[in-house]
Amino acid sequence: MTGPVQVTLVGGFLGAGKTTYIARRLLPGAGDSTCVVLNELGRGDTEGSLFGASPPRLIAGGCVCCDRRDELKALLRNLVGRTRAARPSHIIIELTGMAHPERIAQQLIDDPLLRYHTALRAIVVVVDALALRQTLSRHHEAVAQIAAADRVVVSKTDLCDPATASDAVALVRHINPDVGVDGLAGDVPPKLSDEAPLAVTNTGAHTADVRTVTLEFCQPLTWQVFGAWLTLLVHAHGERLLRFKARIDTGGEGPVLLDAVQDVVHPPRHLVSWSGLTPSSSMTFISRGLDLTRLEASLTTFEHAFAQLAADPGRRGHQSSR
Ligand SMILES: [Zn+2]
Repeated sequence: MTGPVQVTLVGGFLGAGKTTYIARRLLPGAGDSTCVVLNELGRGDTEGSLFGASPPRLIAGGCVCCDRRDELKALLRNLVGRTRAARPSHIIIELTGMAHPERIAQQLIDDPLLRYHTALRAIVVVVDALALRQTLSRHHEAVAQIAAADRVVVSKTDLCDPATASDAVALVRHINPDVGVDGLAGDVPPKLSDEAPLAVTNTGAHTADVRTVTLEFCQPLTWQVFGAWLTLLVHAHGERLLRFKARIDTGGEGPVLLDAVQDVVHPPRHLVSWSGLTPSSSMTFISRGLDLTRLEASLTTFEHAFAQLAADPGRRGHQSSR
């Protein structure tokens, strides 16, 4: 194979059905050169047998987003550093129930070898339809996992009534409005998956302070100014900023796509065209306990101050670029 090794992170709270999802959905048709890494908080391999003929690489007795970070890094470096023939084309990492997926995503960026040889395909988070409401009310990690997800898979919908399944989808969409939602058994009604974000009024105590706002700007934004503003925002409020996603018009040929999870900002992707869209900027913030109403004014003030400095170069300080 050529090109970077694809990496899929599968997170989700304890008992949500991560292993079942990998075994049933990701592995069939994945090809021989897919490697599964299984991380367990406990000591042993309890579910590895589900993977059948391709036994997973096991990291047990700790969590690869925190106390077993180095072990995961060493394993990934070993896998991607192999000769082309021996190297997997796809690595699926099943995280512990408590893990923050974005921390592993950050590891892939921080390490020079992994940054060059891997590409994060997706963060998939599996949630248990029956237990989701209670889990969210008790465990902050579960909220953060959903906020970090590119795709959420709702499991156990075959074990609950349709109202409970709909409730689970609504809870997911309340936290992460434009995330893709699937049923593990193909049993979330398709119309739910395609619906616009639901207006949820009763999502329980835990998600009550989760707020989402989307800002739209018709005029192009100055890339350096926006970058500086976002950096300041993330450094000051990263813990309360669960997720940030943006398509920015910098006046170029195409938009710049940006994605941040808590204080982890992924490298921007510059697209070469707008593919028929009218150029504009759109950014979505998902936060817990952050006053989102002031964001727009803050960015506008920042742009304005920069424009004044640019018009009067004598007052302009040293500019650093990231
Ligand atoms: Zn951890």
